[in-house]
Amino acid sequence: HGWWDKVRVAPKNPIVTVNESFLADPFPHKINLVTGTYRDDDGKPFTPQCVGDAEAKINRYTLEETNSSEVSSKFVMESVKLAYGNDSFVVREGLYAGVPALSGTGACRLFAEFQRNFYPDSLIHLPDPTWPNHHNIWRQARIPVKTFHYYDPDTKGLDFDALINDIKNAPDSSFFLLHPCAHNPTGVDPTEEQWREISYQFKVKNHFPFFDMAYQGISSGDLDKDAAVLRIFIEDGHLVGCAQSFAKNMGLFGHKVGCLSILTRDIKQAAAVKSQLQHIAHSMYSSPPIHGILLVTMILSDPNMKEQWKKEMKTMANRIRAMRTTLCRNLEDLDSSFNWEHITNQVGMFCFSGLAPDQVRHLEKLFHIYMSPDGRISMGGVTPSNVNYLANAIHQVTR
Ligand code: PLP
Repeated sequence: HGWWDKVRVAPKNPIVTVNESFLADPFPHKINLVTGTYRDDDGKPFTPQCVGDAEAKINRYTLEETNSSEVSSKFVMESVKLAYGNDSFVVREGLYAGVPALSGTGACRLFAEFQRNFYPDSLIHLPDPTWPNHHNIWRQARIPVKTFHYYDPDTKGLDFDALINDIKNAPDSSFFLLHPCAHNPTGVDPTEEQWREISYQFKVKNHFPFFDMAYQGISSGDLDKDAAVLRIFIEDGHLVGCAQSFAKNMGLFGHKVGCLSILTRDIKQAAAVKSQLQHIAHSMYSSPPIHGILLVTMILSDPNMKEQWKKEMKTMANRIRAMRTTLCRNLEDLDSSFNWEHITNQVGMFCFSGLAPDQVRHLEKLFHIYMSPDGRISMGGVTPSNVNYLANAIHQVTR
């Protein structure tokens, strides 16, 4: 037999396909609403000022530093403070196991491996819909996936009753993945009261909540507000897991900086869990690149830089919110016969427009507007100079 004869081409990621069509389109006013990258008012990719400042300050690091557990512990400590709160007893008492991870994706995958090692017969419950890669990540880690109700296409909001039923009907002690803010792809988050009910039901069933936090700060513009859900669950006595990404909120896509943390009963358990996470990571990629870790650590531990970052985050969140309002208002001004309020009700980077696949195709063919086939609009790509064109095009394909 010949080596690799059985290998067939893997299914293509639909987002990559749409992105390729966008790049190949010579039309000067084409719009990219596919990728979840934030752009400024001029449609330019955004790097916060604080990242540039940190770049300028970082000295060339030594070989010792690149292997230093001190560097990674400091990074993890700053990351968990961001997630669980500066004054959290979790941080104060060291009741967490944390490791740097290859951005949000890597943190999820590391957790999935850890889950399989210690709960080999478990499943993961994912919201329907969710970021499609969640399915791949857990499947590749040989963990079966089940979905739970989340989005209601009729209301374009949360299907709360069905969600609670699924939590109640899952076997006791199940793993659930939750988006703590700015749910991708729907932009639909539970209210605080609903989160409290979800946390309560998790407690009753002893479910494990794993939070994938890829957009902290992007939803409300406030880091603490966007992490409020984690803190509700901790108050209720859950030992949560959390994947953090600095790709979006610090514009560090290319550096792949993230953190995986798991809360523990005591510091002895923290040491054991951490050592196992390190053991898994070590066998896959040894350790993650140090440059982005140093950048994030510097920004988070320097009060001036952190303030600057928070300001820039507010600007980002406000810009996205302003574009939601403008898009919605423009559609109303065009006398669209549809209700577009969900554009402003939904939060974060994405708007789940409700556009059908053929309408999405028409937008692409007739107007050179590119979005993912499920009708998800990346609001980061909507700007003051393209929002009128976009509203008009949506109106044309939905009238
Ligand atoms: N999790 C969710 C919900 C996401 O939307 C994304 C990015 O699209 C990720 C994780 C991956 O993040 P990263 O780019 O940090 O790997």
